[in-house]
Amino acid sequence: MLFRPGSLANSLPLSIPPATRNKLEKIGILRPIDLALHLPLRYEDETCIVKIAQLNEGQGAQIEGEITHSEVMFRPRRCLIAQVQDDSGILYLRFLNFYPSQQKQLAIGKNIRALGETRTGYFGLEMVHPKCSAVTQASPLKKQLTPIYRTTAGLTQRTLNKYIQTAIKELTLDDTISLPLRSKIKLASFAESVQFLHNPPPQVNEQSLLDRTHPAWQKLKFDELLAQQLSMRVHYKKRFSYRAPPLFNQEKYKGQLLQLLPFKLTAAQKNTLYEISEDLSKPHPMHRLLQGDVGSGKTIVAVLTALQAIENGYQVAFMSPTEILAEQHFLKLSEWLTPLGIHLGWLTGSLKKNEKKTVLNGISDGSIQLVIGTHALFQEQVTFHNLALMVVDEQHKFGVQQRLTLREKGIAPHQLIMSATPIPRTLAMSYYADLDISTINELPPGRTPIITRLVNNARREEIFERVRETCLAGNQAYWVCPLIDELSIGNPETLQLQTLLETHQQLTLAFPDLRVSLIHGKQDSGIKAATMAAFKAGEIQLLVATTVIEVGVDVPNASIMVIEHAERMGLAQLHQLRGRVGRGVAQSVCVLLFQQPLSELARARLKIIYENTDGFEIARQDLNLRGPGELLGARQSGAPMLRFADIVQDEKLLDLAKAVADEMLNDYPQDAQAHLQRWLANKQDYLHA
Ligand code: ADP
Ligand code: MG
Repeated sequence: MLFRPGSLANSLPLSIPPATRNKLEKIGILRPIDLALHLPLRYEDETCIVKIAQLNEGQGAQIEGEITHSEVMFRPRRCLIAQVQDDSGILYLRFLNFYPSQQKQLAIGKNIRALGETRTGYFGLEMVHPKCSAVTQASPLKKQLTPIYRTTAGLTQRTLNKYIQTAIKELTLDDTISLPLRSKIKLASFAESVQFLHNPPPQVNEQSLLDRTHPAWQKLKFDELLAQQLSMRVHYKKRFSYRAPPLFNQEKYKGQLLQLLPFKLTAAQKNTLYEISEDLSKPHPMHRLLQGDVGSGKTIVAVLTALQAIENGYQVAFMSPTEILAEQHFLKLSEWLTPLGIHLGWLTGSLKKNEKKTVLNGISDGSIQLVIGTHALFQEQVTFHNLALMVVDEQHKFGVQQRLTLREKGIAPHQLIMSATPIPRTLAMSYYADLDISTINELPPGRTPIITRLVNNARREEIFERVRETCLAGNQAYWVCPLIDELSIGNPETLQLQTLLETHQQLTLAFPDLRVSLIHGKQDSGIKAATMAAFKAGEIQLLVATTVIEVGVDVPNASIMVIEHAERMGLAQLHQLRGRVGRGVAQSVCVLLFQQPLSELARARLKIIYENTDGFEIARQDLNLRGPGELLGARQSGAPMLRFADIVQDEKLLDLAKAVADEMLNDYPQDAQAHLQRWLANKQDYLHA
């Protein structure tokens, strides 16, 4: 016996050869139970033979016939082509890489079975790299679908299958959800589902296995989602065991600032502020995500939050993803807070040594009450006098990693994380369930909706007139050049810069009557700051920029934005960029230049951004289009992606898992523990983050 029945062992048995163990570990199989949870990617059907004449293009099938021709050809490149015939027709088998043994197997006159996907090839119907086997008098057909697993080099399907089969035979695959709860949720049992997916019986409905709607898949997906929910809830609750300074609402500075502002808060801003304020007054750290569409006014909410900490005599750190945004915030916050007598500091990587020293001193002796900066705020030399609140702007990608850094420094401050774009419900429910969420669900009044235009790059010069008119009428324009990933074979940064410089040159020539300037991430920070200040002051009319201006930049007088190569950009990024205009009273336009030919994905993205202005809707469609991976960014490192469940497709299971997780933690804590152990015990950072 390889595994002890019911084994909860945390490592694979030593009787598995070390080389094999290493390979298993490579694909995430560290414990016996992981073998059972290594579910098939797909299935191959070797239960029947299909006549060649009945083959459908694009479909997998197994055929049987005699080799009537076999030859190494150079059309279009070196490959082995064999012609196989049955009593209904002829099919070609193509091998781009092959061994002499394969040539022998496919010699004229041999009888073979070939399993693969049919497509139209050079000579007619063909299979590329089919799985071939010799047929003898009595080669029985398989009785059931053959599971195909994710594997790694040197670990064959056969070996993997052998260990999986042993594991599911020997382990006790008890349900971790005990009966009273299980009878409520009406899903198949764990053991049966695992057995079924690894050994689907003959005559099973293949489609429900492939699209994972079969009850066995539903059960496994549910269990996976449940583990995620449990882990997030445990993580969430753990926070209440840490202490943080309670920050009471003192109304000392807040009222003053509100009086100074040229606008009134929207109802949504007031509501979120109330939620945050309540949370801060508790003696454990707040971890709250503040989400709202581009331009919904998150900054002022964050600043009022900061004031609550300062009123209580504590320090606040305000972190921005880019230097340009940090600088903008510094200017804005100075304007708002200096009149109240609050001392601000500013820290980025590019500060001169002396300046840096002064700021670091101010942070450690407490004379700086609010410090604004980039990731530099996380560096080792930074010692806070009494940090109580960390605001992280425009970055829902702010990951578990940074939080760990904070924790390691021995502080558990309150944290307000502002997401750059809205987060769809299912994503918030799954990957952000460890955070509390406040949502600003309306824009300040008086905004004119932005008009979006899609323009073929071949007609870019037609846009010039529009830009000129806008600028001559007293407004300003952005011209954005993105990162050019696909072309960056040599040095990406140099190439991007070169494209940007060329565009800048072209536009300078095209607009001799306008003041055109340039900004990008590689510039000296003094130059960047001066350029932004000049643009803000209206001295620059047309600003050529990289996507460094993507987040946060706030110049209400800018009313037209042209984005080059919009087809290469993600939706969140396009929406963010577009949000840089439409901030003032003038009618704003965003021109998306695209380059033909468009991929299907690019076309879908452009359609979505063209048809929608609501960031929540765009985010939802983005999730449908790309899945959570891209939207999560750095979060991924802390939260393993779901392997089986899909938060869009399995939304109902997610809702159910959330409800069950709460009940399980309250009423069946031991089951919850066992379930986490089964699914996540080998994902250490996730559990302890
Ligand atoms: P975002 O949510 O994208 O970070 P900002 O905080 O930059 O948005 O706010 C966008 C603009 O709207 C800023 O110029 C800000 O001063 C302004 N603003 C914020 N709240 C209001 C309000 N209640 N009424 C009018 N303007 C507002
Ligand atoms: Mg912002």
